[in-house]
Amino acid sequence: MLPAFAVACATATDPEPTAAPPRPTPDSGRPPTTDARRSTSTTERPAPDPTDAEPTPEPPERTEQPHETGPEPTEAQPEMRTPAPGGRQEIVDRWSGVAPTAWGTQIAGLVEHVGGGAAIALTLDACGGPGGSGVDEAVLALLEREEMAATLFLNYRWIEANPRTFDRLAGNPLFELANHGTRHLPLSVNGRDAYGIGGTQSAAEAVDEVGTNHDRLTELTGRRPRWFRPGTAHYDDVAAQIVREVGEQPTGFAVNGDLGATAPAATVTSAMVATPPGGIVLAHMNQPGSGTAAGLEAALPTLRAQGRRFVRLSDA
Ligand SMILES: [Zn+2]
Repeated sequence: MLPAFAVACATATDPEPTAAPPRPTPDSGRPPTTDARRSTSTTERPAPDPTDAEPTPEPPERTEQPHETGPEPTEAQPEMRTPAPGGRQEIVDRWSGVAPTAWGTQIAGLVEHVGGGAAIALTLDACGGPGGSGVDEAVLALLEREEMAATLFLNYRWIEANPRTFDRLAGNPLFELANHGTRHLPLSVNGRDAYGIGGTQSAAEAVDEVGTNHDRLTELTGRRPRWFRPGTAHYDDVAAQIVREVGEQPTGFAVNGDLGATAPAATVTSAMVATPPGGIVLAHMNQPGSGTAAGLEAALPTLRAQGRRFVRLSDA
């Protein structure tokens, strides 16, 4: 067994800006920073331009009772206690010094569709950290009331801040829980940034960004999460391979459903009804007051008339 190792908590700057059309950031959690234009996506599609984004409101940090087991939520110090499949050090050694050749939210090999046909794979990110640990109860209530299956990508910090909500979600078979990283960083092996947010700096940091929350979710649920999406949804190709070797699938999206929780309801509805067969929709469940819930709800009559059905990623 390998020794445990610690990962520093994220700083006060939550690594997830908001965004605006035409190609906004897919993942929110924090108002944009002034240096957000430093994004350097090399994907074929235009890079997100978050500088026009409307800042999302800062929700108050929630204080809940801790999980029945596990550390105090406010003093979480991520620690990887179980080596990843294949062994953490083996993965680090294999990829240290290997230069990536692709970067962005749509690099080759990311899972963007599952199944096909009538399936819609709704995924909801919970980003965690300052300004990102809220709970959009309107979204969760809608999913529960309408029995909409979804995959919830939970960040380590969000889990620690919301233990009771976590337990509620983990106990509902409508939902599959997935991994939204530990410090919520772009997943890089050389510190590449997205929206001015520095990514993980090395293969070792990339392994820990995936593996620490992988272990936490496994500890809390008894199941290993199968799907990973990093903060800002940016990967390089080496880091995406590291995700696979830790035991998860690097996940992207086919539809940017709520533009980092900044979109008005009508925009969310339009995005939802245009979901391609089996498309993964990216939206958020950590920004109360966003247009996400209303937009999802307004899309339901059309989607149901079309015979569309919501699936969890592992259902397809
Ligand atoms: Zn996020």
